[in-house]
Amino acid sequence: MWFPAVRVMDSRCLGRVVTVADREPQRIQRRRTKGYRLPEGAVCVDRSTRWGNPFKVGALVMEPGSYASPACPYDGFMEPGTYQWTGLGGPYTYEIRRVRDAADAAALFRPYVAFHDDVYPPEEIRRDLGGRDLACWCKVGTPCHGDERIRLANGGTDA
Ligand SMILES: [Zn+2]
Repeated sequence: MWFPAVRVMDSRCLGRVVTVADREPQRIQRRRTKGYRLPEGAVCVDRSTRWGNPFKVGALVMEPGSYASPACPYDGFMEPGTYQWTGLGGPYTYEIRRVRDAADAAALFRPYVAFHDDVYPPEEIRRDLGGRDLACWCKVGTPCHGDERIRLANGGTDA
């Protein structure tokens, strides 16, 4: 059965959906091998899709984000450092810094996705990703935002 409701930006990333597996959804690692295709039913959540992690190792983040919201990717002109916000919602200290490593990127993702439920509506996450294996470039067993996607897609709450 074909699920036209699956919306994946990159067609190379689209696994054919046959059935919803009767086991726990898991994360799988994409491969660069020529001719590699995702297993049937799997959905790609790497950065080429809307399900990717906006936090990239080495890229800048503002922590906390605007008006003391969860840390967010930063593409402004300020140098890394510690600053004082004195405007609305302040005063508080915030930092412009680089994402340290994969664990940091995955940790930053969790509060961010919960806060931005306008960009990532929970019902869309469950509809499009629920019950499916999620594929990313990250090695299985290493920190990846895909684990949080799986949790949220299968009934996990923001709490
Ligand atoms: Zn990943």
